[in-house]
Amino acid sequence: MKLTSFESLREQMVLLQIMNRSIKDERILEVMGEVPRHIFVPPDMQEMAYEDGPLPIGCGQTISQPYIVALMTSLLELKGDENVLEIGTGSGYQAAILAHLAKTVHTVEIHPELAERASSKLAELGLMNVQVHVGDGSLGWQAAAPYQAILITAAAPAAAEPIMRQLDRGGRLVLPIGSRYRQELVRYKRDGDKLTQEDIIPVAFVPLRGQHGWRDDEWFET
Ligand code: SAH
Repeated sequence: MKLTSFESLREQMVLLQIMNRSIKDERILEVMGEVPRHIFVPPDMQEMAYEDGPLPIGCGQTISQPYIVALMTSLLELKGDENVLEIGTGSGYQAAILAHLAKTVHTVEIHPELAERASSKLAELGLMNVQVHVGDGSLGWQAAAPYQAILITAAAPAAAEPIMRQLDRGGRLVLPIGSRYRQELVRYKRDGDKLTQEDIIPVAFVPLRGQHGWRDDEWFET
């Protein structure tokens, strides 16, 4: 497919899937209209990259639906000066969006193969303010903390204590909480010592693994 057709598919995606569903932040709409989502999916799936759903990216993982990427990004309320942590790099697409909207992005992926691929795509786009780390993101990424915004892109049993500790005062944490069959997108805001919690919408993500993630038997049974 020609580059120009990807561009028009991307325009349609922003208009029909994102603007029409009430995402109004101009910076998010602009960035999602610019970042080439098709380079983050496997070559044989590029033509589906702008469709209204998630797609497989290997290692049993998925790139999230465009609308969900836009929604989670908008819930972080980024102004441009934040240090952001993403847990679950996957394809690297969400990290690319964040890199355009924040100062620095640290993203952690548990599968080395996915981390490596994402890292090379982000470099290809010349995004110098994102660092991809291989490790167990359920522990956060202490070395670069605190973060003004944290995004977890896999379903967690709960907002774990190490993550909460790495969230700065005034910071926002967005994550899906729940198991295989029931998950809710949740936003926490830290205001001084006070923590507020908002339930946003029901969602369907792959499981967060690692120390504070799901074990297989729990994931399917809870
Ligand atoms: N944000 C991604 C989609 C992520 S899918 C994108 O834009 O494409 C969720 C990802 O979380 C998967 O790649 C999975 O391997 C990863 N993951 C699961 N548990 C993890 C953990 N404990 N630490 C880091 N990454 C994890």
